[in-house]
Amino acid sequence: GGTGEEGHQESVMVHVRLRPPKAGEKCAWIASVSSGALSLEPGLASQRVQQGSSGPFSFDGLLTGSENRPVYISVARPLVRSALAGYDAVVFAYGQTASGKTFTLSGDESGSEQGIIPRAVRDIFRGIRQSSDRREYLLRASYLEIWNENVKDLLEPSNVPQVRDDRRKGGKGTFVHPLREEIVTTPAQVRDLLRRGQENRHVGATDWNERSSRSHTCFKMTIESWERDADSASNGHSDLGRVSSPLPADASSVSASRAGKKIRISELSLIDLAGSEKYVSQGSDRRAEGAHINKSLLTLGKVIFALSEKSSSSSSNSTSHHVPYRDSKLTRILQNSLSGNARVAVVCTINPSPNAVEESLSTLNFAKRVK
Ligand code: ADP
Ligand code: MG
Repeated sequence: GGTGEEGHQESVMVHVRLRPPKAGEKCAWIASVSSGALSLEPGLASQRVQQGSSGPFSFDGLLTGSENRPVYISVARPLVRSALAGYDAVVFAYGQTASGKTFTLSGDESGSEQGIIPRAVRDIFRGIRQSSDRREYLLRASYLEIWNENVKDLLEPSNVPQVRDDRRKGGKGTFVHPLREEIVTTPAQVRDLLRRGQENRHVGATDWNERSSRSHTCFKMTIESWERDADSASNGHSDLGRVSSPLPADASSVSASRAGKKIRISELSLIDLAGSEKYVSQGSDRRAEGAHINKSLLTLGKVIFALSEKSSSSSSNSTSHHVPYRDSKLTRILQNSLSGNARVAVVCTINPSPNAVEESLSTLNFAKRVK
């Protein structure tokens, strides 16, 4: 649901990002824009495409370069803005391993091409600063990984998180517990948190590369805000150092200033999905792992599809068909956002190589399905 400021918004936006070929690598696809319509035409891929898996593929935007700034602007910035305005938002990167999911979300290793996550963090702090004369904010962050349908708390690895339901009226809905959430007051704190989380991802992973392509990572920022007292500069709390900073650093100063206020709360979730490649069965452990990934990505597709259906049919007569949130940990964890009026962006990343055509087609079909 959009606000007046943002105008009508579709709840699901799907972008396709074609990774530029590396030196010596061929590109199987021709990206083109004709009369305003975006398309990926099969170049070297044409024979395979004719055999079936059926374009045309429709999506909201096609991104082809190495720059992350335009990706942030068209994919994530509108969602960051609506998260600041009180709506939940979820960004997914979907695609086979080595297609550019992590590059898109986190950036490159050198830090010269920052991804969606650091840019979103910067924009959130900027947005908070800009409205800090009117509102006070509490910002929290959590970072988790789902591997083999188990949740790992990347900020507190000794936790054994479970997904729980609180279906009471006004209850928390579906949530993860225990899960470490840290109050953050500066972008530097978030960077440090992400770095710690990344280090913890490596701990105990015997085969790090395998593991990283087979797990989903979810970074979440929770934005809480309430109206600032008109006289907050002189209400006796100034000794907390809160007045000059829009962000309180501890929970006790928060409870004092927001007592009796209407609290606005929203979540921004940024999700680097497990590689979408088909998992051919190997050992039995691997088989179970692959089956889990296939099932969770399939379920995600169904859930997002249900969301995009909901927004395209008029809300009054929307048939309430079954949405299979409970079929995977990922969709359960995101259920609060995805069952409410969250805005969702999916970036489907494509490896340009002719060797990857089958997987690329399957990714494009995912894009088409959820659109
Ligand atoms: P994934 O997370 O999907 O497995 P990565 O993001 O790790 O894939 O990307 C694989 C490699 O390709 C990395 O070396 C990354 O830096 C590079 N890469 C990915 N996308 C782009 C892009 N749009 N422009 C330039 N290099 C990219
Ligand atoms: Mg990756």
